[in-house]
Amino acid sequence: MAENDTTLLKVVAGSRLMNVSKYMTEQGIVVPHGECPLVAVGGHTQSGGYGHTLRFMVVLTDYVKSFRIVLADCSYISVYRPNMDPPARLSKVSDNDDIFFSVLGGGLGSFGVVVEYSYECVKDDDHPHSTGHSSTTKYSKKRFEPLFDTIQQYMMDCEKGDLDDDIDMMCTAISFDMDQLSVLEDWLPGSGTPQGRPTNNTADASSAGSSVTTSGTSIVDEEDDGRGFGIFLKGFIAVELLYGNRSGQPDTTSPSVADCFEKVYKNMLGNWLLAPTYVDFYATEHHGLLNMCDTWVRNYLIDGREFAYPYLKRFNATFQPLTKPFKDGFMQLVHDAISDNRVRVVFQIGLGGSQRRDHVNRKYTAVQRRDLMIGIGFDIFYTEGHKELAEGYQAKMKELLEETVKEKDTVKMIWASFGNTNIEEVWRKYYDSPEMYDRLRRIKYNLDPTTCSALSSRSRRPRAIGAPRLRKTAY
Ligand SMILES: Cc1cc2nc3c(=O)[nH]c(=O)nc-3n(C[C@H](O)[C@H](O)[C@H](O)COP(=O)(O)OP(=O)(O)OC[C@H]3O[C@@H](n4cnc5c(N)ncnc54)[C@H](O)[C@@H]3O)c2cc1C
Repeated sequence: MAENDTTLLKVVAGSRLMNVSKYMTEQGIVVPHGECPLVAVGGHTQSGGYGHTLRFMVVLTDYVKSFRIVLADCSYISVYRPNMDPPARLSKVSDNDDIFFSVLGGGLGSFGVVVEYSYECVKDDDHPHSTGHSSTTKYSKKRFEPLFDTIQQYMMDCEKGDLDDDIDMMCTAISFDMDQLSVLEDWLPGSGTPQGRPTNNTADASSAGSSVTTSGTSIVDEEDDGRGFGIFLKGFIAVELLYGNRSGQPDTTSPSVADCFEKVYKNMLGNWLLAPTYVDFYATEHHGLLNMCDTWVRNYLIDGREFAYPYLKRFNATFQPLTKPFKDGFMQLVHDAISDNRVRVVFQIGLGGSQRRDHVNRKYTAVQRRDLMIGIGFDIFYTEGHKELAEGYQAKMKELLEETVKEKDTVKMIWASFGNTNIEEVWRKYYDSPEMYDRLRRIKYNLDPTTCSALSSRSRRPRAIGAPRLRKTAY
């Protein structure tokens, strides 16, 4: 519900991202968020809410103005951001600031059950020159390489402080699946079928597939080998760029942001290949933040994911730019997986928010890892009988990371989503500093002494942080 204050949005915790995003778009308001349609804001807000606008808008948590929560002692209270006053005649509870801090980023579900959030949204009209670029082209290794080079260049610029803090970039590689067209329909909405609607009709599949040549003049690709994919399509690569127009004034950078985006797009196509490409929107025109953000919520109707197969999920992040050995090994891994029709791959890479360490609301929440340089999702879906193969691809990814990224440079983001879930052994991987973790433990003890003493008498060690177990999605 949007209140009279047109930037305030109240959302019940079970609301799905796809519905919240659609509603905000209708209201002309926006907050940063991730892209998975069926994720609910209940957990998403507590885990940060990282998405396509990480550099420009940082994380969803920073936009929380207040929330209502049931604590362990069954009290049902309102909690306000420390720099906010409660409405007239209401007052803050004594632990207000600690609860706000720890619920938002401290450990999913560890401090109570959130019932409702109020977000302070950004008005789309305040950024009249925002724009972006979104396009999808046929996957080929030759096209993937220059795109990866561009990513590396962005990372270097990001590290040197040369990349404007209102520019975001996200790149994706995804298998094509003849039987499950939700991917095709979502990435290529011009293909004629309603966006996101799954179909198992092979005849429809072929005709929709042939419309991939939306804007390319012809298909010329030396890597077309037709291995098991009927229409010579292994997968797609997509690039999504956003210019948030923080100042609200026309862009005067030289070269202009639109020109830079155009260059990335041309890199993706390669130097001389004519590629079948679908351009969703193009930086030469103004595109509202909210429309771009809403477009980037993937409205897959198959179980909220790209494919209806079971999958092994992996997400890795680092504070350092990627190294060449990682790049070379990873590109080969993606290529092998995308060429293997027993599995489906979804790879995604997003640039970090390392210039936004000083966000005004940062100090009020315990969100960890917001300064990450790069986040990489690598999910392997597997067809019947090929789970071991998927495990093999994930094992290779793990090996590659171990070989090419220093242990100290790897970070993890959501506790219990990786192998070892014993928080006492792994907390250093999930929390930015011992001070942060200790503070959260102290708050947990204050708020929930009964559970804490029960746990500590059983384990003989205090165990303050630790949500109920999440579904294990990676190792
Ligand atoms: C397919 C997929 C894609 C994702 N994409 C992104 C992304 O793009 N960006 C990003 O930042 N994250 C992403 N995530 C991570 C996601 O934000 C977290 O998993 C988040 O916790 C999901 O929230 P939920 O309410 O849907 O989760 P649930 O699975 O319902 O809950 C997860 C945990 O959150 C806690 N929780 C949930 N609701 C509440 C509540 N109301 N009060 C207290 N605790 C609660 C509970 O401890 C629960 O165990 C993705 C996850 C998946 C599975």
